[in-house]
Amino acid sequence: MTDAAVPVRRRALITGASLGIGEAFARRLAADGWDLVLVARDAARLGALAAELTGRHGGAAETLPADLSTDDGWAMVERRLTAGSPVELLVNNAGISLDTPFVRSAVPDEVRLVRLNVLAVLRLTHAALGPMIERGHGAVINVSSVAGFGVPMPGSTYSASKAWVTNFSESIGQSVAPLGVRVMALCPGYTRTGIHERTGIDMSRLPAWAWLRPDSVVDEGLRDLRKGKLVSVPDWKYKLAVAGLRHAPKRLLRGFTRDTRGAVDRAGG
Ligand code: NAP
Repeated sequence: MTDAAVPVRRRALITGASLGIGEAFARRLAADGWDLVLVARDAARLGALAAELTGRHGGAAETLPADLSTDDGWAMVERRLTAGSPVELLVNNAGISLDTPFVRSAVPDEVRLVRLNVLAVLRLTHAALGPMIERGHGAVINVSSVAGFGVPMPGSTYSASKAWVTNFSESIGQSVAPLGVRVMALCPGYTRTGIHERTGIDMSRLPAWAWLRPDSVVDEGLRDLRKGKLVSVPDWKYKLAVAGLRHAPKRLLRGFTRDTRGAVDRAGG
């Protein structure tokens, strides 16, 4: 086989790749023949996933343990995005929620959320776009949430952080599209990943039909990226909900916010 016949493998860097939606991205992209750079804090879990995916699909899977709420973590991943073998797809997926309403939570926890959900997305997107624009191709998927479409929640910093991610991705996506590069916000609804249990959020009253599967979220997100969408909302139920939220009178939404005061009091104990 000549060099020219060797297929060029594409490489994706996924943050929060050790669990949930990020892990589903890793599994799907590895199966599709991508090489991977897997980022999260738990090095052992990342290593086990990388070994499993390499064994099963044969591609390369680097691990890059990093805490993306810290300056050191950002710097490490920025270096990987700007030097070394090129990254064709960045998936900014790592994100957290808090189980306490804003007025009762500790400021360091709120700051950690903003550093991970907002600043890491800003910094890694910025680092990835330079080389992508130079090459004239590449893509960034920023995992946001339907909570960013003005859903009033008692722990309001989470939905505010996701509103930023969606707006940011849509505006940057518009500006880089003519340069051959895509940026898309992926906005799932409730997805069964274990994040709520780990965060201590009681979801027992959410009906079974409202839950999405991580692999379906990833499939629809990648389909929408190929179509060139700037914002992807997986599943028709959530598409309908988002259309409603986008057009619902603010007065109605504020009324709903007032109704969540009970939840604030409950969450505060
Ligand atoms: P998850 O199951 O809790 O996984 C979170 C991932 O992020 C893990 O790999 C975790 O690994 C990593 N992570 C957490 N803190 C980190 C940090 N400081 N630095 C680096 N990595 C960190 O979460 P998920 O449910 O899959 O959510 C993924 C994304 O989807 C988030 O942005 C979330 O807001 C969004 N989303 C989720 C839902 C849902 O219902 N599940 C709905 C809408 C949007 P380590 O702990 O090892 O670092």
